[in-house]
Amino acid sequence: MPEYKAPLRDIKFVMNELLDSETHYANLENAEDATPDMVDAIIQEGAKFAEQVLSPLNPVGDKEGCTWSEDGVTTPTGFKEAYNQFVEGGWPSLAADPNYGGQGLPSSLGIVMSEMNGTANWAWGMYPGLSHGAINTIEAHGTEEQKQTYLTKMISGEWTGTMCLTEAHCGSDLGTLRTKAEPNDDGSYSLTGTKIFISAGEHDMTENIVHIVLARLPGAPSGTKGISLFIVPKRLPAEDGSAGDRNAVSCGSIEHKMGIHGNATCVINFDGAKGWLIGPENRGLNCMFTFMNVARIGTAIQGLGAAELGFQGSLAYAKERLAMRSLSGPKNPDGIADPIIVHPDVRRMLLTQKAVAEGARALIYLTAQKADLVERAKSEEDRKAADELLGFLTPIAKAFLTEIGYEAANLGLQVFGGHGYISEWGMEQNVRDARIGMIYEGTTGIQALDLLGRKVLMTQGESLKSFTKQVHLFCKENADNEQLKEFVEPLAEINKEWGELTTKIGMNAMKNREEVGAASVDYLMYSGYAVFAYLWARMAKIAQEKLAEGDSEEQFYSAKLQTARFYFTRMLPRTRTHAATMLAGADTLLDMPEENFAL
Ligand SMILES: Cc1cc2nc3c(=O)[nH]c(=O)nc-3n(C[C@H](O)[C@H](O)[C@H](O)COP(=O)(O)OP(=O)(O)OC[C@H]3O[C@@H](n4cnc5c(N)ncnc54)[C@H](O)[C@@H]3O)c2cc1C
Repeated sequence: MPEYKAPLRDIKFVMNELLDSETHYANLENAEDATPDMVDAIIQEGAKFAEQVLSPLNPVGDKEGCTWSEDGVTTPTGFKEAYNQFVEGGWPSLAADPNYGGQGLPSSLGIVMSEMNGTANWAWGMYPGLSHGAINTIEAHGTEEQKQTYLTKMISGEWTGTMCLTEAHCGSDLGTLRTKAEPNDDGSYSLTGTKIFISAGEHDMTENIVHIVLARLPGAPSGTKGISLFIVPKRLPAEDGSAGDRNAVSCGSIEHKMGIHGNATCVINFDGAKGWLIGPENRGLNCMFTFMNVARIGTAIQGLGAAELGFQGSLAYAKERLAMRSLSGPKNPDGIADPIIVHPDVRRMLLTQKAVAEGARALIYLTAQKADLVERAKSEEDRKAADELLGFLTPIAKAFLTEIGYEAANLGLQVFGGHGYISEWGMEQNVRDARIGMIYEGTTGIQALDLLGRKVLMTQGESLKSFTKQVHLFCKENADNEQLKEFVEPLAEINKEWGELTTKIGMNAMKNREEVGAASVDYLMYSGYAVFAYLWARMAKIAQEKLAEGDSEEQFYSAKLQTARFYFTRMLPRTRTHAATMLAGADTLLDMPEENFAL
């Protein structure tokens, strides 16, 4: 596995130059501590932890994996010690509520940490990552007593959390889940059922694990309107708040899987386990959405991390590996051959990874700023506007970034030729680890239905307009800028076409609802490329201005501009295919009777 080096220059570019984090943080409620110096210091320290502690453990986790026994799950060598260091450093409490021991810094800062930790070692990063989602759910929906009991322990990192939704017969369709919760006389509930694929469901890093579980109350309506949410700890809290007696929750086994071997994927059995309701009865799925939005942005980071790690590894290799001569004549005449970075096709692979990683960083940090505003905007108007944009951008970030992040990880492997397929270099681990991103937290297909059906068509296009209006404004403001023409013109065209395509699908859907499902993934991918075009055009503008000023970091800004140019000429045209296929209609998909598939 390539040694991870946190891309601090680009992180700062996105935070400071593209998204003006200083003004953003200054405009949030209770974010006084997020001063530029503090933010900088945190990122520097976080980078050291990711590079020095987590990155070396990435291949170890892959090779050793987790081991199950009746006593529990043992994580790979070094994982527990790294977790202890993480806790000692105060990292779990960074963006958590100060009333329960948190440091109260904005969530977007936590996202930067998650990027660095997750890129260095995704399997390890999932343990605190899931905990973070569980913390958010209890913060948003728990009672004061639940917060005092669980949040303080989870925020300090002494206990971790999980997300228990999936059952053997249902993952996407949670309306059919069967785990039961029977009320007890003391106000608690007894939960019975089996959850599968529970990430970080059992491990040896902490003394207690707090499961957030979806289950049904007796007589609850069928479908999604009859699901409630519960806290079910592995160990019941004792009088003094410590982890007390074992609850009737156990890990029945762990899965053997394609990647993320260092993260335990568990079957969790609830055998009359004691739990407590969070939020109102039968509104569990609504409460869970808090958890899911955070988790979806968290999963989007996996796409960014896969692209970044693949890029770092393959760039170093492409500069050293010698093969054949450049088509225009030797570039390394004294060597037996030229380094492969001279070949146009190798550059295509490198630049795709770079454009994906840097574009993904811009999109994730933008989304994270919206999440900050939802939590801490100073006015209700700003909060509402951010909430609408967050809802619109989340499925795009989750599905588009994990899809193209996986493509980028594959290209990283391809740059290595046959050596990429060999474990030693770590590129095949990166591909295997990245593959799950398109599946958990809602598959690409489910995210696409959420985007096109729920977010766009059900709001009569309002959520789309809230974004395209911003793009339109940017295009208008820069319409006369000759130097930006190569970016602004195609961006304006895409922005207009996006609305037109949406209207056409909406019209088709009025005649036949299947048209939504037939168009949705192409629509989502198109939307992802359109959002990237906006972000890349904005980044190109900053780079051009800096270059015109004669900035001392000429190399950094020219690279930014050249990558923007690559994106517009070699990636954005993919929208042509998506535009055509999203309008190709449902008939070609549905005409074939099921029996004919096997002929
Ligand atoms: C390593 C790993 C870790 C996981 N971690 C967790 C965890 O921590 N907690 C947890 O609760 N779950 C977890 N999961 C479960 C994961 O979220 C589910 O596997 C996922 O949501 C898909 O559900 P499913 O496997 O039941 O597939 P299904 O829902 O059966 O879907 C199968 C296929 O059908 C498609 N499909 C289904 N319905 C539709 C539709 N209406 N329209 C179009 N296409 C559709 C899907 O896109 C998919 O391609 C994990 C899974 C894995 C493998």
